[in-house]
Amino acid sequence: MEKKLKELRRSLLEWYYKNKRDLPWRKTQDPFSIWLSEIMLQQTTVKTVIPYYEKFLKKYPDFKSIAKAKESDLLKAWAGLGYYNRIRNFQKAARHIAKNLKNKVPQKKEELITLPGLGSYTSAAIASIAFNEAVGVVDGNVKRVLSRLFTYEKEIKTSKADKYFQEKVDYLLDKKNPGDFNQAMMELGACICTPKNPLCLLCPLQKYCLAFKKGVVLNYPLQTKKIKYKDQYLLAVVFKSQDYFFIRKRDEKEIMASMWEIPFFEISGKESWDSETIKAFLKKENFPHLGDLEEISKLRHSIMNLRIKIRSFQLKLKKKYKMPLQGKWIPISDLSTYPLTTMTRKILEKNN
Ligand code: SF4
Repeated sequence: MEKKLKELRRSLLEWYYKNKRDLPWRKTQDPFSIWLSEIMLQQTTVKTVIPYYEKFLKKYPDFKSIAKAKESDLLKAWAGLGYYNRIRNFQKAARHIAKNLKNKVPQKKEELITLPGLGSYTSAAIASIAFNEAVGVVDGNVKRVLSRLFTYEKEIKTSKADKYFQEKVDYLLDKKNPGDFNQAMMELGACICTPKNPLCLLCPLQKYCLAFKKGVVLNYPLQTKKIKYKDQYLLAVVFKSQDYFFIRKRDEKEIMASMWEIPFFEISGKESWDSETIKAFLKKENFPHLGDLEEISKLRHSIMNLRIKIRSFQLKLKKKYKMPLQGKWIPISDLSTYPLTTMTRKILEKNN
């Protein structure tokens, strides 16, 4: 058995060293850079992350710079990546390291997992890649590979399944090269053992894969729990007066707290979108001064289980009137100094 395990590890690592994508965070073992890349990669694609990662590292190269930064500056640098709690928690963790741990970054998964924003997956990734701890990483890609390798017959989104996959990956793990082994498993899931068209003929683990042997690869992983999506319809209005826009800061209790945006209004989705209906709607919302209305764009956006359809309009006003909602008029030239939500940025880009 030990011989088979050694072979499996060797095949996987050889494949990884030959085929791994050339990604910037793979050139370092610096815990700060690894940590940053791991939190950026949560819910976000590699292609989107690369330019953000490189730009962010230039501005904030270490924990000290993050600990000292103003939250609004960090949000600005993060704008567009979404899930802003990731960067807020990163700052909380950096401050904790500076204040309580004498700037020493914890090296073990069990210590890292106690810090803000780090779950089982991220702490195992940092501990193994940056500090060589022999602990397996289980992300969505690894779950898929393992569920096929072992034909795991149960629903994968349960704590029981998490425990099962953790045990399996710890068992397979190359204890001498835990960081590379973990990255190889994740890479295999991302590039070869993909959800719809797995490239089994190129897979270094084909010989060990039960699902492949049985010809039932696409039956795994088992997912019985369907995500329930909710539709939301938003009207977005760019209030413009000469060279000024009106923007508001999102409340502390809202998602994307402290980010800035143009005003959005939730509507039922049944309204017609002609300019009279929109003006009547805004009048009801206590906007007394309404000028020329012009459609900017139709957008779709997803946040968690929300599928959002947005119609955006520009409303030109003669003056910077007092508005019936919290916010402020700012010169258009100052926009780039605010951390704007992704939806707002998309709409304003179309508005130019
Ligand atoms: Fe995935 Fe196919 Fe490799 Fe099995 S043989 S691990 S199903 S790519």
